[in-house]
Amino acid sequence: MALVSGVGPLPKHKLPGSILFKESFYAGLPHNFHKCSKCLDRNSPLHVVSKTEYIKFQLWARHSNDYNHIIGNIQLDRNILINNIPSNMKYISFPNNIPNADYEVYKDGSRINGKTGFSVCILQNNINIENLYKLKNFNSVFQSELAANHRAAIWAAEKNSTINIHTDSLSSISALKSASARYGFVNNIKKDLFQLKHLVGLSWVKAHIGIQDNELADQQAKLATTTGVDKDIPAPRSFIKRTLNIYMINEWNEYWRQYDSASGARVREYLPGVSPKFLIHNEFLIFFLSGHGPFPQYLCRFKFLDSPLCVCGEVGDADHYTFCCSFTQKFHLLKPADAHKKAWL
Ligand SMILES: [Zn+2]
Repeated sequence: MALVSGVGPLPKHKLPGSILFKESFYAGLPHNFHKCSKCLDRNSPLHVVSKTEYIKFQLWARHSNDYNHIIGNIQLDRNILINNIPSNMKYISFPNNIPNADYEVYKDGSRINGKTGFSVCILQNNINIENLYKLKNFNSVFQSELAANHRAAIWAAEKNSTINIHTDSLSSISALKSASARYGFVNNIKKDLFQLKHLVGLSWVKAHIGIQDNELADQQAKLATTTGVDKDIPAPRSFIKRTLNIYMINEWNEYWRQYDSASGARVREYLPGVSPKFLIHNEFLIFFLSGHGPFPQYLCRFKFLDSPLCVCGEVGDADHYTFCCSFTQKFHLLKPADAHKKAWL
């Protein structure tokens, strides 16, 4: 603070134009700079984050219909109360292997290019009865893996046969053994499997080590994402998170476009909108883009200096030091035309 609280322009060795490219100037400057640079920081504005979290809570925890339009009226999975579920139904343990089972089943779930599906390959001697199912784009791989276990068990019940399911998905086995799983989708499947557990053996196999039948299930699951039979499963919580992240960026952009200030207008000349792909961490670039930095014009505005002028006599703002000032000539950048500013960064 002491460095900039005196009367008159900054000493020459503290001129911002030169220090745009040197870290040394940062020490001793007022804390206002840190606050002002937040407009380009990677954190979304607090009110946008709060609003998004509120909507997430309303949708998932309160089952409110008020925000269904944001998620395209898609049916959501939901958490259920698990306290009243008997403990033997909460923890379902299958034998690894049923001796002399009628069928061996390899299954797999897949998600490629935003599309989800699963395969159930039922093998007996040389017969391969393949079932391919396509889920909705919002469904997760975890859901597809669990749905494949479920489908295989239902098939066994329909045929009154015994099966051994081989899966490379530990998460789907863990979910069946977890006493704390709260998703409605998971618990519905557990309820069915509890009734069928005398027909099913379940074991884990390592993926991609050349087990031919497992590789077949893997390939078929990829195929299922585009050609499988449609199957409806409610959207998981991860879908809300993904969708609301996009919503938050849109809200942030709206706020960004409407932010009515000189610095807001200046930044928008270079950056048309916010994007998580364009996050600025460099303070000096933030100083330049916002115009909020150790410049006489800015310091004068907050009464840290009496004069907004550079020692050369011109108004000392970000553009002056970056493009014009004779004292910072060797650091000058070529000033872009207005039409090219958005392409400049
Ligand atoms: Zn100057």
